[in-house]
Amino acid sequence: MPICSILARLRTPPSAALQPPEQCLIRRAEHYTCRVARTYRTDAVVLRSFRLGEADRVLHLYTLDRGRVGAVAKGVRKTKSRFGGRLEPFSHVELVLHQGSGELHTVTGVSLVRPHHRTREDSYRLGVGLIGLESMLRLFTEQEANERAFTALTRFLDRLDEVESRAPARPALDPLALSFQLKLLWLSGYLPHLGSCVECGETEGLVAYVPAAGGAVCRACDPGGIALSLHGLRGIRTLLSTPLAEAHGADLGERGARDALAVVTGSYEHHGGFRLRTLSA
Ligand SMILES: [Zn+2]
Repeated sequence: MPICSILARLRTPPSAALQPPEQCLIRRAEHYTCRVARTYRTDAVVLRSFRLGEADRVLHLYTLDRGRVGAVAKGVRKTKSRFGGRLEPFSHVELVLHQGSGELHTVTGVSLVRPHHRTREDSYRLGVGLIGLESMLRLFTEQEANERAFTALTRFLDRLDEVESRAPARPALDPLALSFQLKLLWLSGYLPHLGSCVECGETEGLVAYVPAAGGAVCRACDPGGIALSLHGLRGIRTLLSTPLAEAHGADLGERGARDALAVVTGSYEHHGGFRLRTLSA
C-alpha cells in the first residue's frame, strides 16, 4: 500500500468528529504532502548517459540526497532543450527530480554547479575521469545517501580539472585516480588490510598482496601473492591518509603506482567480482 494511503487512513478522523469542510481541508493537505515528497531537489553528478528514443536520455546519477538514482531527461536532445548541454557525464548539477511510479525518476529542473569542461577537453584527464566515474558506478549501486562518497566524487572532479595532462602516460597509473579508488574501496568496506601481515600479524617486511586473504603478507606467509614493493606500500598508505588534492605529491613513482593499481584491481575482482573496463584501456 502506498505510504500516502496509509497516512490518509491514520489521519482520517472518526466520521462524526468533523464537519465536511474541515475534512475536505485535511484531504487537501495530505494530497499536497504526498506531491511534495515525490518531487525533490538534490545535488548530483552525471555518471553516465545514453539515448532513449528520438529525443530523451537516460541518466545514471550519483546524488547527495539519495545515492544512486536513475532518471530520464525528456527532450534533452532537441536543439531548443531547456536542459541545454548541462546533463553530460562529469557535470555537477543541482536537479529537481520527480519520483513517479516507474523505476526512473524524471528530471524537471537543472542548474549547473560545475561543468568540468577541462576534464572533457583533454584525453589524459578524460581517461582519469572515466575511471573515477566507472568506479562509482560499480561500487555505489544502492539508492542510499552516502555523503562521504558524494563529497569524495565532487572533490575528485574539482581537482581533476587542474591536473596537468601527462599524455601519453596511462591514466590508470595517475595518483589522483588511484587515490580516489582507494578511498572509495575504504568507504565501501572493500579496502584490503595493508598495515600488517594478514596471516601472522608481523608489521615489518611485507612483500606481497593476497586478494583472497584480504591483505598484505610477510615473506614467511607469502603463498605466491602479487609482489608489493616497500615504496608501493608506503605510497598506498600516503594516498589513503592525505586529501585527494595532495595525491600528486605522494611520491609514488612508476613502481608504487603499479603496486597501488594491483591492490585496486585485486580488490575489485576478489571482493566485488568485477573489472573496470576503463582500467584496461
Ligand atoms: Zn606473516
